[in-house]
Amino acid sequence: MLGLMQDRPLLISQIIDFAAASYPDVEIVSRSVEGPIHRYGYRDAARRSKQLAEALLGLGVKPGDRVGTIAWNGYRHFELYYGVSGIGAVLHTLNPRLTPDHVAYIANHAEDKVVFVDLNLLPIVEGVIDRLPLVKHVVVMTDRAHMPASSKVKNLLCYEELIAGQPGTLVWPEFDERTASSLCYTSGTTGNPKGVVYSHRSTVLHTWMMCSGAVLGLTPDNTVLPVVPMFHANAWGLVYAAPMSGSALVLPGPALDGASIYALMDAEKVDISAGVPTVWLALLNHCEQNGLKLAAMKRTLIGGSAIPRAMIERFWREHEVEVVHGWGMTEMSPLGTATRFNRGERALPDQQRHDIQAKQGRPVFGVEMKIVDDAGADLPKDGVASGDLLVRGPWIVNGYMKGEGKGAFTSDGWFHTGDVSKIEPDQSMVITDRSKDVIKSGGEWISSIDLENAAMGCPGVAEAAVIGVAHPKWDERPLLIVVRKPGADVSKEQVQEFLVGKIAKWWTPDDVQFIDAIPHGATGKILKTALRAHFKDYTLPTA
Ligand code: AMP
Repeated sequence: MLGLMQDRPLLISQIIDFAAASYPDVEIVSRSVEGPIHRYGYRDAARRSKQLAEALLGLGVKPGDRVGTIAWNGYRHFELYYGVSGIGAVLHTLNPRLTPDHVAYIANHAEDKVVFVDLNLLPIVEGVIDRLPLVKHVVVMTDRAHMPASSKVKNLLCYEELIAGQPGTLVWPEFDERTASSLCYTSGTTGNPKGVVYSHRSTVLHTWMMCSGAVLGLTPDNTVLPVVPMFHANAWGLVYAAPMSGSALVLPGPALDGASIYALMDAEKVDISAGVPTVWLALLNHCEQNGLKLAAMKRTLIGGSAIPRAMIERFWREHEVEVVHGWGMTEMSPLGTATRFNRGERALPDQQRHDIQAKQGRPVFGVEMKIVDDAGADLPKDGVASGDLLVRGPWIVNGYMKGEGKGAFTSDGWFHTGDVSKIEPDQSMVITDRSKDVIKSGGEWISSIDLENAAMGCPGVAEAAVIGVAHPKWDERPLLIVVRKPGADVSKEQVQEFLVGKIAKWWTPDDVQFIDAIPHGATGKILKTALRAHFKDYTLPTA
């Protein structure tokens, strides 16, 4: 027997319509790329999202078409989140920190038709536009007064002019809730970046959980500042969660240093935030050096990399800010776990509470987790056994764009995270290692394979391997390990010099270590576990 309830589709456009009606004057405050602070309420944001949608239809954008963005957290980007997905097109957020080669690869793979770009990121588009035959329009997210001239991109469009004449009266179309809504590429696996295609349904379900007391507990009393970029798994869903719950939203633009974030938090009385550990370290240090307190802040969601325990302690001791440790992935929309306290735990002494917060946390409702051994057999959740972490749930990827990366999915519906972990009897998950061959530095991925391939081209290098080593600021940095060719005397400086221009500058390995032989497994693959064990006491040079 089926239930007799209405089967209304869950659509992203409903969130902005709801916010416009219920919280019309609750503000979105943005530090604009042009400089000044911009503020307006959800009603105006909704109207402008509709104007944008009307303009997109005018440009010939059809349901299913991909619309790229290369932009910081700001109000026009917010309008794109709703305007693009609202008409059934797919919002493709590109990461401006990627190399030009990756940007070109991703935009072509996604088949982006229109690209919206922030004023100060236009050079990225200029650098690759010759390689983007499918892009029909490039729109600069600014007004006429700030429009740049570009000799490289023909017929640049101006965002404000594009939407200016539009009525803003569009009624959002209704369609299947499983329709693609947005697209994010992740390099968090081996090989080329892969596309994760979110649906309206997955996004709305994920947003409900983000809002809930199990994660952030958002209400109309809150003011939320996502430091996590809108090109990182949809700013962890906060640009949907804030309007859904009537919270004010503060968007920091390109200024992500400690002083700028503090100034915005202080001025807007931000009480909830979210971001990767590196940005919080900068903020904590800025506060310490200047004798400042995060007076309004109540809690912050930190994830994307392991959080140093000292950070949890400092937030509490110095600012009475509760750290909610989250673990997740682009492939999980991204929420997987969050360390909110269970009944009774809040009353525990500080150190015991910090023990709980230092773990990656318990899964939220909607996310199932298990660990398996190398043969795929389930391991016990006893806090001792450690194995490959698998997840499933309604906001977890079911396949990558264009059928790639099939090996990450089991035939019975689980997704391989590439993290290695143990799970305790109370469901707390603790990451112990990573089976995927990537390094996470300051919240961004560095591909060890790309680095190894680049280094292998260096004269005198017989073999190269890259592992991540702990770093106090960036969490991890790459260490390049090289076996010299017989008779060669290539030096660290020569290898680093050779890599210039072949990789993004911030990918440059912090050190090069030379060894006699790199260990290999049975199939000839480099044994990164053995290398990591070999270098376990190694520390990076401090220069
Ligand atoms: P991304 O897709 O960029 O969000 O990266 C997801 C990956 O980042 C995970 O699979 C982990 O390897 C890592 N990660 C995310 N959150 C945490 C965390 N709280 N602790 C340790 N690693 C994390």
